[in-house]
Amino acid sequence: LKPSNKTFHVHPRLLSSDVYSQYESFRQGKQEIPKYFNFASDVLDKWSEIEKAGKRPSNPAFWWVNGKGEEVKWSFEELGFLSRKVANVLTKECGLQKGDRLILILPRIPEWWLVKVACMRAGIVIIPGTSQLSAKDILYRLQVSKATCIITTDKLAPAVDSVASQCQLLKTKLMVSKGSREGWLNFTEMYQNQSADHSCIKTKIQDPMIIFFTSGTTGFPKMAQHSQGSLGFRPLLSERYKFMNLKYCISGGEPLNPEVMEQWKSQTGLEICEVYGQTEMGVICSVYGGMKIKPGSMGKAAPLYDVQIIDKNANILPPGQQGEIAIRSKPIRPLGFFSEYLDNPKKTAETERGDFYVTGDRGIMDEEGYFQFIGRNDDIIISSGYRIGPFEVENALIEHPAVVESAVVSSPDPLRGEVVKAFVVLSPNFSSTDKKSLISDLQDHVKKTTAPYKYPRKVEFVKELPKTITGKIKRNELRDKEWGRT
Ligand code: ATP
Ligand code: MG
Repeated sequence: LKPSNKTFHVHPRLLSSDVYSQYESFRQGKQEIPKYFNFASDVLDKWSEIEKAGKRPSNPAFWWVNGKGEEVKWSFEELGFLSRKVANVLTKECGLQKGDRLILILPRIPEWWLVKVACMRAGIVIIPGTSQLSAKDILYRLQVSKATCIITTDKLAPAVDSVASQCQLLKTKLMVSKGSREGWLNFTEMYQNQSADHSCIKTKIQDPMIIFFTSGTTGFPKMAQHSQGSLGFRPLLSERYKFMNLKYCISGGEPLNPEVMEQWKSQTGLEICEVYGQTEMGVICSVYGGMKIKPGSMGKAAPLYDVQIIDKNANILPPGQQGEIAIRSKPIRPLGFFSEYLDNPKKTAETERGDFYVTGDRGIMDEEGYFQFIGRNDDIIISSGYRIGPFEVENALIEHPAVVESAVVSSPDPLRGEVVKAFVVLSPNFSSTDKKSLISDLQDHVKKTTAPYKYPRKVEFVKELPKTITGKIKRNELRDKEWGRT
C-alpha cells in the first residue's frame, strides 16, 4: 500500500508483510493515514488495470465453486464490469444514495460479492445477514438498521413480506431468483440489462461501509459499523487462505475444548488452529501457519493488533496473570476496527479503557505470547471469593463419556453467594443411568480434572442448550433463569 495524494495505491504483488510494514508506519505516526479510500476503485480497479497491461499473473479475481461442481470465474475486469451494472441497478433503478442502508441476505452465491462490490462503488452501506434468519430476526434487523432496501432469495421473500408492514422505511425489495413475486424486483434480470457505465463514488476512509450485527450471544445483536478503511484492510490480509487440499482446519467463535481437538486429530490426522476474534475487528489472536499449537490456547496476537491482558485500571498485567483481553486503540485507532456501535454511544464508551479497547473477554497470556481464553466477563462465576471461568469446567465435563456438551453458569446460593451450575446434555448411552449417581460421578470427575473448588455443585440434565443462529451457547439465558431474571 503506497499512499500518495492521500489515496491508497496498491502494489501489484501485494504481500501480507508489505501490509504489515505499511501498517506499522501508520501506527508509529511516520505516515499519515490517507483521507480517502475505496476498496473498489483503489484496489480492485487498480488490479484490473494491471491485469489489462498483462503485468499480473492470470489468476482469477473471483473463483466460485458450488457443491455440484458448478463454477464461476471472473477476471478483475469482469468483476468490475458486472459490479458496475449492479451499482446502476441500486442507484438508478432503486434510487439508493450514498449512506443509504441495504440488507443483504443471500447464501454465498456470486451475486453476494457483486452486491458487496457494487455497494462500495455507490457508497451504500451494506448489512449482511445469514440465510438462517427467521422472520423475527429479519424484522429486528430491518427496524433497528432503518434499511431502505433488502436483497434476498425467493426462499426468504415470504418471511420478509410477513414483517414488511412493520418496517415503514423499507422501500425496495429485490429478489435473486428465476421467478417473480408481487412487490419484488427481479435482481437477476435487472442487472443483466443494465449499462456498465458507472463511476465509483469518492469515499473518505472513515465513511461507513458495512454494518455487522454481532452474534447476539449476550442480548440483542449490536450493530458494529465498519468504515471503508477497516473493511478494505482485511480482504487484503485474507489472501493466505487457499483451499487447494484440506490441510488446515480452523475453529473460532467459541472456545475449542482440548478434548474436541484431540478427537478431531485422531479421526482426521489434522490439528485445528484456533482463531479468536470479534465482529468489531475481526481476528484478534490466531494460530498462524507453522506456529506451534498449544491445546487450550488461541494462539498469538494478530500482527495488526497490540493485544494485552489488562486490569480494571488499564494496567498491563504480566504473563500468567488473568485479566481482561484488550487491544491498544490509542493514539491511533487500528485500521481494522469498527467505528462504533450504531445508535449506542453508551455501549461504545463501555469498550474504552485508558489506551485500550476492552473485548469483554477474560484471558491469560503466557511467557511466549500465547493467549488462553477464560470466559466472557459476565460468564465468570465468583464463588466464595474464587473466580471460576465456565470454559475450564466445561472442558473437564466433556472429557467424561456421558457428556455430549455442557454449559456452566453461576447459580444463587445462600451461603456462597453463587455456585457453579452445569447444564449437561447426556450421551444417549447414559440416558437410563441413575441420575443421582451420575451427578456425583460427574462432580468427582471435575474435582479430579481441575482444581476441586471448581466442581459444579449443581447439575441439571437438559435435552439441548440455548444457542444463537451460529451455534454459540447463550450462557446468559441459562444464568438469567437461574437468578429469576427475565
Ligand atoms: P454479542 O456481542 O451480540 O453478545 P458475540 O460476542 O457472540 O455476540 P461475535 O462478535 O460473533 O458476537 O463473537 C465474538 C465473541 O465470541 C468474543 O468476544 C468471544 O467471547 C467469543 N469467541 C470468539 N472466538 C473465540 C475463541 N476462539 N475462543 C473463545 N471465545 C471466542
Ligand atoms: Mg460481543
